[in-house]
Amino acid sequence: MSERTNFLIEEQGRYIAQRDRGHCQKCQRRGWQMAHRIGKGKDNRAMLANWLREDGISIGPGVMDLIIHHRWNIVLSCDTCNSSFNIGNNPEMARALLARIWDDLILGGKIKYDEVKSIWLLTVK
Ligand SMILES: [Zn+2]
Repeated sequence: MSERTNFLIEEQGRYIAQRDRGHCQKCQRRGWQMAHRIGKGKDNRAMLANWLREDGISIGPGVMDLIIHHRWNIVLSCDTCNSSFNIGNNPEMARALLARIWDDLILGGKIKYDEVKSIWLLTVK
């Protein structure tokens, strides 16, 4: 992973820890696991990439990691509740979340379109 990608992911991690205040977002017990709504595995990444392609979107290195590690795709969880946050098996919810995250990455200036390569790339600011 590039330095830029690492920095952006760490930024999301700090945000999530503050937002969720060290508590599981389901049962409110102490919890420090980062539960992914859409899991970070290869199959989920392929699913998201397919959906983006269907919308005519090509992405460069690191952009999928920004989607997977986006603050809206992660909640603090205890060990018991972790898997209950998963929506990777619910295409309608997962696709809606992807659309929201994608808009946020663009509006937040985290990614930009490279006209020459016709691909979305990380910004360097
Ligand atoms: Zn819990």
